[in-house]
Amino acid sequence: MGFLNGHPPVPVERASELFDYAVEATVGAVAPPAPTARPARIQYSRYRPADFWTNPKYDPDSTKSVVAPAPGPAPAPVADSVPEPSHKLEPGCSLSPSEANTFLNCPARWYFKYMQRLPDPSNGARVLGSAFHKAIEFHWKAVLAKDPRPLAEAIEVHDQKFDELVQDAALCDDENAGELRATGAALVEVYLRDVAPSIQPAAVEVPVSGKIGGVPVNGIIDLVDIEGCVIDSKSAAKKPSGVRPDYRFQVSTYKVLSPKLSGRARLDTITKTATIQVVPQSFEVGPADVQYVELMYPFVRDAIKDGLFYPRRDNNLCSRKWCPFWRACEAEFGGTVE
Ligand code: SF4
Repeated sequence: MGFLNGHPPVPVERASELFDYAVEATVGAVAPPAPTARPARIQYSRYRPADFWTNPKYDPDSTKSVVAPAPGPAPAPVADSVPEPSHKLEPGCSLSPSEANTFLNCPARWYFKYMQRLPDPSNGARVLGSAFHKAIEFHWKAVLAKDPRPLAEAIEVHDQKFDELVQDAALCDDENAGELRATGAALVEVYLRDVAPSIQPAAVEVPVSGKIGGVPVNGIIDLVDIEGCVIDSKSAAKKPSGVRPDYRFQVSTYKVLSPKLSGRARLDTITKTATIQVVPQSFEVGPADVQYVELMYPFVRDAIKDGLFYPRRDNNLCSRKWCPFWRACEAEFGGTVE
């Protein structure tokens, strides 16, 4: 069941139809669907970031993006400095859970990252996370190849990846590359020594794809164990207080795309605290999770097509420290990012 702006719940299969109606209703193109007329759920903003208007692929007089050039005078040429929009608005283009989560977290951030493709340099935390992930992946691939490698080799993989990535990173003022590298190596050691031996892997880096709510979606599952449980490991600055919604969304996506998965998932968070801790969190994907992803992917896709790239300054990652696009965001939308 879904909710429409104060109206009673409606069946999921009706929600998509009503969403389309809400879109069309803003331009008066369609009649309200039977059995009862409902007001538009979302009042679409006619605002789009500036370079939308300069691209002939999109009709500035419509609330919906179109692929045909608008009639009338030729559109203004696109300045060299304005990046071409990415393929993300092309019909059939797929979304990943990460992209959808980025959009749900802040549509403007999605726009700067995937449409404008502005530079998105990693900070130290992201470099450490990527190097840690590479080392764990190396370990599992060796195990599955029945050629387990010594811990020292996994740490070497971590160190090499860290050194490679840190070259292009923009470390925060409170980040030190040497300390981060040593911390990352310690995380790899603790995880592979204390946690990995209890896991029986079945597959690693598993690509999945399909359609969810009619939207092409793809992703890569880090690890599946022999019971069909999705297992992820991530580094974090502190202990998590609960399963993060974006992780739940990610795993729910996998379950919908791969029905053979058990639906169970476990996220091992390794804390970068003075005493390293591994905090496992388990959950099972349920019908409500499936309903959520089946509704959200079409919503995200339609919002992208309609250019709804509003900034969400209230989200936890909205800050000068954690959003690399804050300058572009202030220039585009005004306001102040702290
Ligand atoms: S600065 Fe905040 S509102 Fe702007 S794109 Fe980044 S996260 Fe979104």
